[in-house]
Amino acid sequence: MTILCYHSLHPTWESPLAVRPDAFAGQAAWLRRNRRVMPLRDALPQLDARGRLPRGHAALTFDDGFAELHTHALPVLMRGRLPATVFLVAQTLTPAGRPVDWVDTAGPEPLSTLTPDQVLEMRDAGVDFQSHSWAHHDLTQLSEAECVRDLRDSRELLSELLGVPVPLLAYPRGRHSPHVRRAAARAGYTHAFALPERAEDVDEYAVPRIGVYRNNGPLTVRLKATRPYARVRTSDIGAGNVRRVKRMAERLRLQRR
Ligand SMILES: [Zn+2]
Repeated sequence: MTILCYHSLHPTWESPLAVRPDAFAGQAAWLRRNRRVMPLRDALPQLDARGRLPRGHAALTFDDGFAELHTHALPVLMRGRLPATVFLVAQTLTPAGRPVDWVDTAGPEPLSTLTPDQVLEMRDAGVDFQSHSWAHHDLTQLSEAECVRDLRDSRELLSELLGVPVPLLAYPRGRHSPHVRRAAARAGYTHAFALPERAEDVDEYAVPRIGVYRNNGPLTVRLKATRPYARVRTSDIGAGNVRRVKRMAERLRLQRR
């Protein structure tokens, strides 16, 4: 009943953003067996007023367009016939490119993002691509006019590359504010996705997702794919909070009886 948000599947990058490829493969197999994984676009009309999908449903998203998605996500998604949406930082696809300088933990080597050819290959294999802004700036720090320009440039470059409209946006770091949400609408997006740490007002320009991180064990990921957003926050059930996770799992089992 949730929209899950992954970032990288880098095997050796010790960042919360980098889920290990084998862990991801295990999570994907569990989702395929236990959830109906929907294309994000089909999920949107089914969201309730709190931004939740119907019981038993989930959707998969990846932010930032890291290069290793081609190696480690694509085969798993294809094998499991799992639909997924990747949100791209448009400037990374320009000839000049853009270094990955928006992450907090440096990679073991410079981190790279998907090339236009890899994006097109993945698109042809059925992966959906949408916008994660032009340059991964914190949009809440830009003026509304700057946000509109950034988001419009991203949508235009991506629709040009992909040959289809790009109506969906994931805010960099999930951050938004009233002027950012207005800018998303003015720049031509129909929906925008957040990554709330606590209950937030939900609307088309603040659709909640829940992040999956490197230290999340199988049980945590199952809970994240199950519980309402306000109860399971993105970051508060990491490895250090095992008792709480177990309590929630117990409640979940009781509910299922
Ligand atoms: Zn991002």
